[in-house]
Amino acid sequence: MNAAEQLCAALLTRCKTLQNVKEVHAYACKTGLDIDPFVAGKLILHCCVLISDALEYARRLFRHTPNPDVFMYNALIRGLAESDSPQSSILTYVEMRRKSTASPDSFSFAFVLKAAANSRDLGAGFQLHSQALTFGLDAHLFVGTTMISTYAECGRVDCATKVFDEMFEPNVVAWNAMLTAFLRCGDVKDAERMFRLMPCKNLTSWNVMLAGCMKSGELELARKLFVDMPVKDDVSWSSMIVGFAHNGCFDEAFGFFRELQRVGIRPNEVSLTGVLSACAQAGAFEFGKILHAYIQKSGLLWIVTVNNALLDTYSKCGNVAMARLVFDGMPGKKSIVTWTSMMAGLAMQGYGKEAIQLFDEMERSGIRPDGITFILLLYACSHAGLTEEGCRYFFKMKEIYGIEPAIEHYGCLVDLYGRAGQLQDACEFITKMPVSPNAIIWRTLLGACSMHGHVQLAKQVKERLSELDPDNSSDHVLLSNTYAVAGKWKDVAAVRRSMSHQRLKKTPGWSMVEVDKIVYSFFAGQKQNKITEEAYEKLEEIMLKLAIEGGYVPEVGNVLHDVEEEEKEDALFKHSEKLAVAFGMSRWCKGRIIRIVKNLRICRDCHVVMKLISKIYGLEIVVRDRSRFHSFKGGSCSCRDYW
Ligand code: ZN
Ligand code: ZN
Repeated sequence: MNAAEQLCAALLTRCKTLQNVKEVHAYACKTGLDIDPFVAGKLILHCCVLISDALEYARRLFRHTPNPDVFMYNALIRGLAESDSPQSSILTYVEMRRKSTASPDSFSFAFVLKAAANSRDLGAGFQLHSQALTFGLDAHLFVGTTMISTYAECGRVDCATKVFDEMFEPNVVAWNAMLTAFLRCGDVKDAERMFRLMPCKNLTSWNVMLAGCMKSGELELARKLFVDMPVKDDVSWSSMIVGFAHNGCFDEAFGFFRELQRVGIRPNEVSLTGVLSACAQAGAFEFGKILHAYIQKSGLLWIVTVNNALLDTYSKCGNVAMARLVFDGMPGKKSIVTWTSMMAGLAMQGYGKEAIQLFDEMERSGIRPDGITFILLLYACSHAGLTEEGCRYFFKMKEIYGIEPAIEHYGCLVDLYGRAGQLQDACEFITKMPVSPNAIIWRTLLGACSMHGHVQLAKQVKERLSELDPDNSSDHVLLSNTYAVAGKWKDVAAVRRSMSHQRLKKTPGWSMVEVDKIVYSFFAGQKQNKITEEAYEKLEEIMLKLAIEGGYVPEVGNVLHDVEEEEKEDALFKHSEKLAVAFGMSRWCKGRIIRIVKNLRICRDCHVVMKLISKIYGLEIVVRDRSRFHSFKGGSCSCRDYW
């Protein structure tokens, strides 16, 4: 290497942007070094690997090099393999084989195999495998390991196993690749067998196993592995938190997060978004606030995903004001995820006008709405009774943004007409839909019938539903509700009888309430324990007070307005949301809002009870049920009794 070459190489190491590289390139051209293979190779590699958005420039440099050598080919193959078009990486490899005298080495194969993996191109994988055989590189550790990953990515764990078995003394990286291959295909059993056989494991092996178990929902196995791990890093902790959160085990997710802090490991982006998603799902507002303060204090508020998770948590906990605070304070440009999370918060609370305002703001900021944005917007309009606006946005979606409405959008519009009582329009709309209506569309219409007591239409719709989705208990409930609203009690009883006759499956109901940053779960008719005992005791006291001071009578005999399952008339008292609210009240301290999350829709009776409690006890209760938020205050609910 001469002095000029050395200077070029040294200058390149300092290049951080494409502009920098262009300057070095200009210098190389001036000194005639641009066709020097060493310098040209370095330039191409730098553009391919170290600088983003410089791939096109690298390609141009490559084209201008007279006889690119294997080093340059490898750089380009590697860069393209990780790009949006991994197929062009494979094409570059093919070009090298056809046009060049350079023969591929182990790096070429490892990089181009990565491209085959990234484009899930099994055919290319097979061909590259046989070419590697020709060059005697198939048993090469580096090549073999990548080949294992490629086959796994293409769903061929059998081929991956063959490659592994033929490897001469596989190292820990190869073993880890094989572990990943099994887990990638959801084969936890074989992964575990491999794991036990491994001659030596590193931290990655443990972490791969952990993450794989959590993805397949093998939570107990993951927990056992975690205990056995000789060393744990932040990746291991994050896996536990995210895994439990994704599998709906919020208590465990919170527990692991607390433990992580206790042992002095700094939470990272993954563990924070994981624990925040647990908060969002469990409606754990207080805990979310603590996390918010922590994130602020530790200077992590610049991370976009953390901000989005925080915003989502506040939205799902029903606190639009806090969500807005996070939204407004977000650093940098807001992503579509940010806008949609904020809109979801407004929509779920029935803030239709505000959702529309936000949408306008989003348009002005230059972010293009997508299909999900419009679902939320239409949902917001329908829940706020903004029928005209909803229709306008439905057409705007297609006309202005060219988004073809999906079945969900049609569903929103049926709901929009239905809620407003325009059942004729809803029916007409359904018949004009270019896609054939599914059960959800008909169920939406049935819901509207039950809301407005349209018996005739409800019967017709129910017949359609019986053909499309015969075993759905909520349809029977909706039909019986329609009869109830219309005062036809005989028909109500008949529907109930046929339901119990058909033994329709019912989803068990549960509710959660957060008290002192701990989330407690309650199930309908749950067995007694210390917590439920406390809840039942308090509930009895509350119901007595409601009866005396509020004139409350349980809606048992006549109105079967139980929107969902769970209900046995005599078990009204045991509804999980009642237990949750009672427990929340027994531990209540001044100024707090009681927040409940319920997996089904809240029933009419519980809704009445919550309203009365909010009035008689002067409390604020927020219930997030399956379809929306209910904010109870001073005897009324934000849903205006429509849900
Ligand atoms: Zn209930
Ligand atoms: Zn309500």
